[in-house]
Amino acid sequence: MNKTYEAIIIGSGPNGLTAAIELARNGLKVLVLEKAETIGGGTRTAELTLPGFHHDYCSAVHPTGILSPYWRQLPLEKYGLKWIHPPVSIAHPLDGEEAVLMSQSIEETAANLGIDGEAWQKMLHPFLKKPHGLFEDTLGPLGIPDHPFLLVRFGLKAMLPATWLANWQFKSHRAKALLAGCAAHSFLPLDMAFSAAIGVMFAVMGHTENWPVAAGGSTYITQALAAYLEELGGEIQTNTLITDFRQLPPAKAYLFDTDPLQLSNIAANELPKSYIKRLQKFDYGPGIFKVDWALDGSIPWTDKRCLQASTVHIGGTIDEINRSEKAAWEGKHCDKPYLIVCQQSEFDSSRAPKGKHTGYAYCHVPHGSTVDMTEAIENQIQRFAPDFKDLILARHTTNTEDFKNYNPNHIGGSISGGSNNLTQLFTRPVARFDPYSTPNPRIFICSSSTPPGGGVHGMCGYHAAKSVLKQVQKQEVGSKK
Ligand SMILES: Cc1cc2nc3c(=O)[nH]c(=O)nc-3n(C[C@H](O)[C@H](O)[C@H](O)COP(=O)(O)OP(=O)(O)OC[C@H]3O[C@@H](n4cnc5c(N)ncnc54)[C@H](O)[C@@H]3O)c2cc1C
Repeated sequence: MNKTYEAIIIGSGPNGLTAAIELARNGLKVLVLEKAETIGGGTRTAELTLPGFHHDYCSAVHPTGILSPYWRQLPLEKYGLKWIHPPVSIAHPLDGEEAVLMSQSIEETAANLGIDGEAWQKMLHPFLKKPHGLFEDTLGPLGIPDHPFLLVRFGLKAMLPATWLANWQFKSHRAKALLAGCAAHSFLPLDMAFSAAIGVMFAVMGHTENWPVAAGGSTYITQALAAYLEELGGEIQTNTLITDFRQLPPAKAYLFDTDPLQLSNIAANELPKSYIKRLQKFDYGPGIFKVDWALDGSIPWTDKRCLQASTVHIGGTIDEINRSEKAAWEGKHCDKPYLIVCQQSEFDSSRAPKGKHTGYAYCHVPHGSTVDMTEAIENQIQRFAPDFKDLILARHTTNTEDFKNYNPNHIGGSISGGSNNLTQLFTRPVARFDPYSTPNPRIFICSSSTPPGGGVHGMCGYHAAKSVLKQVQKQEVGSKK
């Protein structure tokens, strides 16, 4: 590393690459350093089970990717990113009755919610008048919003426990289950304040665009970001684990696409002790246990319409899902866990050999758990898709320890940059006016441990880059005086 750079980014996840792009677009010479052999962090695809079966190791379905206010401005399609839209975003099977389906059409969705169809539309209509305005105001740090009335309206629902919102808005178990399935992506018990936020947001996203998958695998998101970055003159170096600040070449700015604990260790001598202490108090929340399958055919759902959805939420009623999420939060394992199941190969034939399919599911488990949840997960799928187990050709499992080994950011198996509890939802990793900056004007954090948190959208990286550009400008003005 003898060359000189203006900004060094540690980590090549979607946020690291996005930060690098925004800095390079502003004329900075940037270098991205990645620990692993391949770039991409949570957006990587590999043959985890059998040859010819391409599995998304982490992110699979990308509502936040296609709707990212920053990525929408980038020419990523020119660099090979192609979104594939399923006809339906979410299927939510229920025992002994038709599944609930959520698609872009709010009317079609309402039609399968029975007596709550109108209430579903009423709850979401105000946000669907200006969805991109809502995404711009919420997918970033706290600040002065461009659409204050819309944001207040959203906030009044988002701040509630999902169970309260569901009981307030709906009469039947179908709409309550649909909202619960979306809200449980938050990793919060559904009777906890702010657990409704991600639920309402995901529903708004689903009625704005059907939740897509990336053609060829999530790795194509990474490849497109990296190709654009390289065209802008940015450089990437893999197989470079940073454990000590002294490994880094001189630069004006260092951006950490890492968890707060690594930042506190790597930059221990560069940051005040008080700030380090606050980073070390960061709460990572529950982890996950994931299974990938090579399958001999499509998942044989009892309600065949479930095959139209990129994501299937398994877990039954709101009470059952709440029990599962509460268990993981309280350090317990649930024998009927809430699952996020993804069906990429139903819409992208490049993922598996002809006639075969990939399967993907995970459940939330206590922080650091090494309990094998394979049987509980497969039983839950079998509950709504009898004969599922007969289709399994091979499986690959990942527990919280494996995730941490794969990517050091996944502390205790946490996959969304840390807990989304009240104190960390907007002010992560610590409460600061500019959460991307640190007390050292050269050091920044750009990972999903900053606002707006987990998900493949690059918005943490974009806002961190903006913070860097402000600082660099200040330094330039200072040096001219
Ligand atoms: C199993 C799973 C399923 C998910 N599903 C979805 C989904 O369907 N949709 C969605 O939108 N999101 C999903 N997510 C979340 C999403 O992947 C993350 O929120 C996103 O990848 C975070 O991006 P990031 O850039 O902040 O960090 P990461 O993606 O974690 O990237 C950080 C990178 O930094 C590298 N790194 C870390 N420490 C160092 C170091 N010390 N030195 C050098 N390099 C280092 C890592 O190797 C990694 O490549 C999922 C995540 C997981 C794990």
